[in-house]
Amino acid sequence: MEKFDVAIIGSGPGGYVGAIRCAQLGLKTALIEKYPTLGGTCLNVGCIPSKALLDSSEHFIKAQKEFKEHGIKINTPKVDMKQMINRKKKVVDQTCDGVKFLMDKNKVSVYQGLGSFEDEHTLKISGEKEDKIQADKIVIATGSKPTELPFAKFDKERIISSTEALNLQEVPQKMVVIGAGIIGLELSSVYARLGAEVQVIEYMDRAIPTYDKAMSKEIVKSLKKIGIKFHFSHQVTEVSRKGDSVTVKAQDKKEQEVSWEADYCLVAVGRSAYTQGLALDKAGLKTDDRGKLVVNQQMQTEKDHIYAIGDVVYGAMLAHKAEEEGTLVAELIAGEKPHIDYNLIPSVVYTWPEVASVGQTEEALKEEGRAIKTGSFPFRALGRSRASGDMEGLVKVISDKETDEVLGVHMIGPRVADLIAEAVTAMEFRASAEDIARMSHAHPTYAEAVKEAALAATENRPIHV
Ligand code: FAD
Ligand code: NAD
Repeated sequence: MEKFDVAIIGSGPGGYVGAIRCAQLGLKTALIEKYPTLGGTCLNVGCIPSKALLDSSEHFIKAQKEFKEHGIKINTPKVDMKQMINRKKKVVDQTCDGVKFLMDKNKVSVYQGLGSFEDEHTLKISGEKEDKIQADKIVIATGSKPTELPFAKFDKERIISSTEALNLQEVPQKMVVIGAGIIGLELSSVYARLGAEVQVIEYMDRAIPTYDKAMSKEIVKSLKKIGIKFHFSHQVTEVSRKGDSVTVKAQDKKEQEVSWEADYCLVAVGRSAYTQGLALDKAGLKTDDRGKLVVNQQMQTEKDHIYAIGDVVYGAMLAHKAEEEGTLVAELIAGEKPHIDYNLIPSVVYTWPEVASVGQTEEALKEEGRAIKTGSFPFRALGRSRASGDMEGLVKVISDKETDEVLGVHMIGPRVADLIAEAVTAMEFRASAEDIARMSHAHPTYAEAVKEAALAATENRPIHV
């Protein structure tokens, strides 16, 4: 039986990045993945395919609605769904192949098959053939799966999760989306842009409820413009299918029943940790009542030599959070002393305009009783935004009232997914709002909105409004 320093179960961003870092640190490493392609949810049915379709559908709506204003005449654009899905597949294939290349380059031994515990140091891999390996340290990076509503079981044809929604062969005429979280907003955007009539039903009183309230308000305003209809404070009670039609029933605030008919119902109410098939009991492990593996700050389970990272443990279900944890575990195993500041893990919604956030929200800080200052700056006041025509949105900087240290930055606007990195850098170095405000920002760029919002937070003296 082959022996390894480290064996990692699951090849998502947590597992594969952890494997590369282990190999870089000289550890003999195995990576086990049950599917034939590497990359996990993120590369196969998550981040990458969703962004491919978001980009394609954004091109379509720009051609349809904005080219004329720019003085570009084209025939009426039409959607070729087959080609859009083929392109997405190519992007996914290339990205997954890239991970395979990185495993070979770093001499990580990849095993294809379902990994399960035989005992606390031995793993069985059930694939085309059966293998067994032993490892000093084991990392569980088995990720998550879409959460099912008890009354809306996925039939994967008409009552679907994000996985199927990323592979539709036609543009739905009508789509009901349950959940106005990140997946709900991103995939509603894709299909509304392509011409579907989209209704979003949300249990809470706003969209993306974990974000700063101002962001929720602004994104809903923008998405309504592309035709998405929102129904907040609605409790879905029934989802039923008859032929190719799905009926969704819900109770509104006044407990009145409302219902919608659609050709597809996308259920996007969160994701649940995935540990099925691991035979955790054979390693003396169990999940908590929410199905998660509980770990300490070093990502160790109850068994010190078995670690768990990414979506299978608590915290934001984000690819870059999983990556940081993969790196952290590899470095801990190699005897280093790494650290993750979870407050500085940014979060992005890839709608248009995009939404991005790092640090604490105004609501959370107020609840904490912290004395703060806020400064906002609208993109419409920027020359760069007028040139491109992307005028929606704003940047909001929140800083400590006494020290001026930046505590949170929340943005909605063009390319803020990339702009948030400036805020992360600033906060990592514990910058004040004035530090950001005094840095030169190239003109004309969207980044000038960050400087201006910081100026507004510092002394309420933005230049261009
Ligand atoms: P996963 O990526 O889920 O990988 C786990 C892997 O383990 C899988 O490949 C699985 O097959 C394998 N596995 C499970 N059990 C076993 C076993 N017993 N044996 C062998 N293999 C096993 N996050 C972002 O940061 N940005 C985004 O833009 C973004 N977009 C998303 C869009 C969608 C539609 C979805 C669904 C998610 C998105 N996410 C995004 C979230 C992101 O995909 C996850 O947070 C991330 O993939 C978690 O990484 P992970 O390594 O923990 O697990
Ligand atoms: P989410 O937690 O972001 O949103 C789920 C939404 O569904 C919430 O607003 C919640 O209030 C609502 N909800 C829950 N139960 C409901 C019910 N019965 N009826 C109506 N609404 C209900 O989850 P998601 O959108 O499914 O995404 C899953 C995970 O994937 C998230 O944790 C997210 O971090 C990750 N993800 C990230 C990105 C990104 O980083 N851009 C993109 C997609 C997914």
